[in-house]
Amino acid sequence: MPKELEAKIIEIIPRTSNVKSFRLDTGEEIDYKAGQFLCASLRDERDCKRYLSISSSPTEKGYIEFTKKITQSDFSSALNNFKTGDSLIVKYPMGNFILRDEEASNIAFLSGGIGITPIRSICKYVVDKRLDKRIVLLYGNRSINDIVFKDDFEIMQKEYPGLKVTHVLCEPAVGFECIPGLINAGVIKEQIPDYSQRKFYLCGPPGMIDAMQKTLIDELFLARENIITEKFIGY
Ligand SMILES: Cc1cc2nc3c(=O)[nH]c(=O)nc-3n(C[C@H](O)[C@H](O)[C@H](O)COP(=O)(O)OP(=O)(O)OC[C@H]3O[C@@H](n4cnc5c(N)ncnc54)[C@H](O)[C@@H]3O)c2cc1C
Repeated sequence: MPKELEAKIIEIIPRTSNVKSFRLDTGEEIDYKAGQFLCASLRDERDCKRYLSISSSPTEKGYIEFTKKITQSDFSSALNNFKTGDSLIVKYPMGNFILRDEEASNIAFLSGGIGITPIRSICKYVVDKRLDKRIVLLYGNRSINDIVFKDDFEIMQKEYPGLKVTHVLCEPAVGFECIPGLINAGVIKEQIPDYSQRKFYLCGPPGMIDAMQKTLIDELFLARENIITEKFIGY
C-alpha cells in the first residue's frame, strides 16, 4: 500500500542544466522496488502534485531520490527554489515498471532524456545486487550535455560487465563515443543483435514511447508482452 508522509530534502544534485535530483529523508524506511514512482506535492498547495520516478535504488540506504526536469511550470519553479531542509509531501511506492523475479536475464532498455530515471534505479539495483542479468541500454538525447546520470552509468559499466550503455545523440560531440541520430530499428538491430530474445523496457515521453513500441512491433516483430512501458505523461 502506498504511504503518504512529509519528507525533508537532505541534498539537491544538479544533473544537467535543467535537471535536478532531490534526495529526501522520509524519517522511516519504506519498501519500494527499483523502477517505481512517487507522487510529490508541495506542502502549502497539496493540489499541486506530480508523479516522479524514484531514481535511487533500494540498495542506497538513508534516502530516496527523485530527479525532475525543471520546466516553466509553477510546480517546477517552486521545486527549483527549494533548499535543503525544506520539506514536501510524498506518497509512494507506486507502479509496475519493475523487474519481475521470473524474468529472463536478457534485458534491453530504450530511453530518452528524463525517461532515464527509473532505469537508473533498476540498473543500480542490478549492479549492487550483482544479479545475473545482461543489460543493453540505448539512451537517446539531443547532446552530450543533456545526458542525465552520465558519470553514474560510466561507473556502473566498469563495475558490472553485464551492463552496456550506448548513447544515441542528435548532435554528437567530437571524441565522445555515441551513435549519431535517433534510436530506430537499424540502431536496435546493430546494437542489440539478439533483440528478439530480450525483454524490452521503454521509458520517456508518451510520443517517444509510442514510436519506439511501434518500431519494435511493426519493424522488428517483437511480441507486445515482451515490451514494458512507462509513459511520462505531462511531456
Ligand atoms: C509514472 C510517471 C513517472 C514520471 N517520472 C518523472 C521523472 O522521474 N522526472 C520528471 O521530470 N518527470 C516525470 N514524470 C512527468 C511529471 O509527472 C510531469 O508531468 C512533468 O515533469 C511535467 O511537469 P511540469 O510541472 O514540469 O510541467 P507542466 O507544464 O505542469 O506539465 C505539462 C502539462 O502536463 C500536464 N500534466 C502534468 N502531469 C500530468 C499527469 N500526470 N496527467 C495528465 N497531465 C499532466 C500539466 O497539467 C501540464 O498541462 C513522470 C510522469 C509519470 C506519469
